[in-house]
Amino acid sequence: MSLAFDEFGRPFIILREQERKSRVKGIEAVKASIMAAKTVARTLRSSLGPKGMDKMLQSPDGDVTITNDGATILEMMEVENQIGKLMVELSKSQDHEIGDGTTGVVVLAGALLEHAEALLDMGMHPLRIAEGYEMACKVATENLDKIKTRFDFSKENIEPLVKTCMTTLSSKVVGRLKRPMAEICVKAVLAVADLERRDVNLDLIKVEGKVGGKMEDTRLVEGIVIDKEFSHPQMPKELNDVKVAILTCPFEPPKPKTKHKVDIDTVEKFEALRDAEKAYFTDMVQRCKDSGAELVICQWGFDDEANHLLMHKNLPAVRWVGGVEIELLAMATGARIVPRFQELTADKLGMAGSVKEVGFGTTKDKMLVIEGCPNLKAVTIFVRGGNRMVLDEIKRSLHDAICVARNLVRDNAIVYGGGAAEISCALAVEEAADKVTGVEHYAMRTFADALQAVPLALAENSGLPPIESLTAVKKRQLEEKNPYLGIDCNDTGTNDMREQNVFETVIGKKQQLFLATQVCKMILKIDDVIKPSEYD
Ligand code: ADP
Ligand code: MG
Repeated sequence: MSLAFDEFGRPFIILREQERKSRVKGIEAVKASIMAAKTVARTLRSSLGPKGMDKMLQSPDGDVTITNDGATILEMMEVENQIGKLMVELSKSQDHEIGDGTTGVVVLAGALLEHAEALLDMGMHPLRIAEGYEMACKVATENLDKIKTRFDFSKENIEPLVKTCMTTLSSKVVGRLKRPMAEICVKAVLAVADLERRDVNLDLIKVEGKVGGKMEDTRLVEGIVIDKEFSHPQMPKELNDVKVAILTCPFEPPKPKTKHKVDIDTVEKFEALRDAEKAYFTDMVQRCKDSGAELVICQWGFDDEANHLLMHKNLPAVRWVGGVEIELLAMATGARIVPRFQELTADKLGMAGSVKEVGFGTTKDKMLVIEGCPNLKAVTIFVRGGNRMVLDEIKRSLHDAICVARNLVRDNAIVYGGGAAEISCALAVEEAADKVTGVEHYAMRTFADALQAVPLALAENSGLPPIESLTAVKKRQLEEKNPYLGIDCNDTGTNDMREQNVFETVIGKKQQLFLATQVCKMILKIDDVIKPSEYD
């Protein structure tokens, strides 16, 4: 696009390859964007809450994913529209920062935009709407600080953390087992958490899975589980207190870097070559033995010849261990990663309390469990599930819960879920709006209406009459000045979320408000869309 002037000095815009571009301007453009964003948000709406539905998505190569997680649904949906993509990004950023609340944030953004449409129809300028939303968002986040509760926890008293994680898990496949699963997640987080610095390195928590068994068999391993086995079936299946060498060099004779040709035309030459290779292997294995290693973990594979030799020399080995695991193992055992056999010395070895090969069911699948490492508190959650789709979804659900526990370690403030926090914020925003005299008054009231989309969706998904449930709860909140009342999704007979133990982290809720408002502002500010035309 470029700007030019005609002979009278009037400006006009030249679109390069104009006939192949389509252009939407002004309010039309804003409305078209809102339309797209609304469509994306509407898809997710039915997945919100403990009674939310799952989506089944098929990738172009036929892989099926069944999920309830907002970020995953949007990522797999392959949204074509640019504004739709913004919503996808929105959900992703919530996932990156917080981990949970990925559906909620999109539902909220969708509602904010949907309600903005009515204001546009009233003739309000998009920027004024954006400003009003910004003011309302500030009021809402301040209100969150007013109604938040602090949860004190310690390594001995993990109950508050478990309860919050249970809220996150209640809307997932593992809902039935939310208590044991939440306990696993909390224990994992606390095992690696640095409570003084209030930080958790999530890289130290690995979630590994194996198809088969029952969900109940999911357990926490205080160590590292890798999906590998000892390289030779005759190696011992269990090692205790071993010195570990970690190698990133292959057990192979060195290969010339340029093209080469070896002519072998006699038996002698062949045998000479074989002997030379064997000498390499013997030397390599001997170097490992000399350093005092009792277990070698290799990033690369090795030849049968080397494998046989390792077995013969009583040096158990594991091959094809991935880069991430290599690093984790190095941190945990205290070993240095050795890139060359020549550099292998005794001081580069690490220690492991026990290395065990465990099998599963009747399959040949085996995994290695490495526990009792001196340095680090790396833990693995080992997930079992009936099929790959369930297994993947359990992993995603546990990820959400782990993130929630981590957020609580960072900041132990919580608000109440089930739409309680949203309704309370809506009331606060409405009150603040009444004090604003400008046009922003309308935008703020609209923001308050949009906040209620979350409790509305929760009620709708649980088969309750949405408007009736919402107004009843809102009335009670107002009359009783009680910000803990929310939608009773599970029909337990009480709206008090304190009794139902439905909690969400304050950081998560604030982030949802911030991100949703930000995206809205961005979309409202777009008044000119120029793109390649779809029909030539
Ligand atoms: P998200 O991807 O946004 O986390 P979820 O499907 O996990 O979406 O649903 C989260 C919403 O469900 C939150 O608003 C939370 O307060 C609500 N929620 C979870 N459990 C309950 C419950 N037992 N009763 C009422 N609301 C609940
Ligand atoms: Mg959730």
